[in-house]
Amino acid sequence: MSTLKAVRGTRDLLPPETALWNRIEATARTVFARYNFGEIRTPIFEDTGLFARGVGEETDIVSKEMYTWEDRARAQSEKSQSLTLRPENTAGVVRAYIEHKLGETGQLQKLYYIGPQFRRERPQKGRYRQFSQIGAEVIGPPSAGSESPLRDAEVLEMLATLLDELGIQGWTLHINSVGSAADRARYNDTLRAALAPVASQMCEDCQRRAVTNPLRVLDCKVPEDQPIIDALPKISDSLDLESKKHFAAVLAALDASSVPYTRNHRLVRGLDYYTRTTFEFTHGGLGAQNALLGGGRYDGLSEAIGGPKAPGIGFAMGLDRLVLTIQNQLVQNSAPPQVAQLVDAFIAPLGDAKNEEALTKINAAALALARELRRAGLSIELGDGTFRLKKSFEAADKVARRIVILGEDELASGILTVKDFASGTQTKVPRAELVSFLSS
Ligand code: ATP
Ligand code: MG
Repeated sequence: MSTLKAVRGTRDLLPPETALWNRIEATARTVFARYNFGEIRTPIFEDTGLFARGVGEETDIVSKEMYTWEDRARAQSEKSQSLTLRPENTAGVVRAYIEHKLGETGQLQKLYYIGPQFRRERPQKGRYRQFSQIGAEVIGPPSAGSESPLRDAEVLEMLATLLDELGIQGWTLHINSVGSAADRARYNDTLRAALAPVASQMCEDCQRRAVTNPLRVLDCKVPEDQPIIDALPKISDSLDLESKKHFAAVLAALDASSVPYTRNHRLVRGLDYYTRTTFEFTHGGLGAQNALLGGGRYDGLSEAIGGPKAPGIGFAMGLDRLVLTIQNQLVQNSAPPQVAQLVDAFIAPLGDAKNEEALTKINAAALALARELRRAGLSIELGDGTFRLKKSFEAADKVARRIVILGEDELASGILTVKDFASGTQTKVPRAELVSFLSS
């Protein structure tokens, strides 16, 4: 029989690496709490229409990367429905915002999420078909201040703080403004005109984009096309006064809080509904997949999926790429490899494999002792009564700081033998004092 493996583009995360994942998630939760964000958990799959409308039919995500299936009706009363594994979480959050009428509170909603996303991309380092994102959204009615440039700057400042607290060194914040929908339409026309005479010298994709969606030409990575793209008109020249003032206010607030940034005229991002501020944090250590996170303002998204006017700004960071970055840094700083934590004690029941009744009794007593110690907050590994003493010691030495021996005699007398591996000392400890002895 052929062996079954994890599906291409998916992976298993094992200890001790999962401890690093947990640490990153815990740091993110702590930082989000300080900025008064609350957690939202939306379903892993949604109606396909949500992504078609909320991410945009023209995007790579929707046009080629989604896992979509037809969910058949099971009863006459049920309709079949096209469902999709979420490729990102902003659309789901905005759907929930609309569905639960969160806008009617009149308050700004500050929501974060942590969870898996799915895209059928070509797997490579830092790019998987199931990956995890940590993201947050600030969304609400305009009366709650959701359009304010202060919201943009606050989110960016929070991200700078989060990356710093995660110990990620050498990140770069790239920032741009794509203006209002009208600004973008105007810029698209400008670009189309500027591309007409030069498109024939560009790559095939750009020749197509020059006609269908000129903005996407700015995403092109083909080296030969770069000088042509750099010479194209910049979107900053197509912004109206309001958009210019908004962007200037975002930058002024970043300057005031000393968050460093680089203006990147080509950062237009994949989503159709981005308005005004767009940004990305990159890291040089990641190679080709160098984006740690991306985000921007989406003032028209709620209305695009049938909701009320609810301007917002958000970001999504790739947890897999954060982990890679931190692991690379640990190697560079020649930090010791991650090791599993030792538990406080290993309980070694000493039984007689041939005497089933006695064996059952000592194993049962060992579980009762482990329960007592664990309930007192100690971390305990439990051996097995069939192990010879030597085998128990070998097993314990790998995972625990101490071994507690529990044989017939110890059970009868209530005095246990504890050996500390670091010091090599062996101590007789009355059961009643065991918790405090092991806690030291
Ligand atoms: P990229 O340009 O790397 O494809 P993107 O623009 O598609 O990124 P977003 O949709 O903005 O990415 O997602 C935000 C973040 O999620 C990215 O910056 C990246 O860190 C992470 N990410 C996106 N796709 C993947 C993937 N397939 N595997 C791992 N992480 C990913
Ligand atoms: Mg992508």
